[in-house]
Order: sequence, then C-alpha cells, then structure tokens
Amino acid sequence: MNTTKQCRRVLLAGSEGCQVVYCPDCEIAELEIGAMNIRLEESVFRTVVNMLNTATKKLEGIQGVLVGYPHMLGRGRVH
Ligand SMILES: [Zn+2]
Repeated sequence: MNTTKQCRRVLLAGSEGCQVVYCPDCEIAELEIGAMNIRLEESVFRTVVNMLNTATKKLEGIQGVLVGYPHMLGRGRVH
C-alpha cells in the first residue's frame, strides 16, 4: 500500500460542513457532515443514496398526508 499517494478528492455535492467528496483512485465516497466523516465504497455509497431517496419520498408522503389532514397535527403529537 502506497501511503505517500495523494488522493484526488473531487467535490460531488454540497459545501464546507456538509458535502460529498469522491476519490476516483480509491473509489471511495466521503460523506462529510459537520465533524462526522463517513467513508463508503462506491457501491455502498450508491446503496445508501438509494435508501435515503426512498426515505425522502416516504417522508414527503407522510408530510403530504399531514397537510391534507391538519386536524392530525396538534393534539396527539408525540414530538
Ligand atoms: Zn484516495
């Protein structure tokens, strides 16, 4: 393993503090959120992205339901 090799980090999205950078040499995507830094193999990264997309769609669906039924907001909320 060549430890002197410099990684070519490419910014895929976001900006300082919340961003995704990718190293084509290592095929590693790094998710940087605040002090958190999550390194993922490209295939795992794609799986996580798909999972988050699914979660986002479901979240929008849940929020859509709540907008349609405002009486569900307010009383009975757990948060
Ligand atoms: Zn690298």
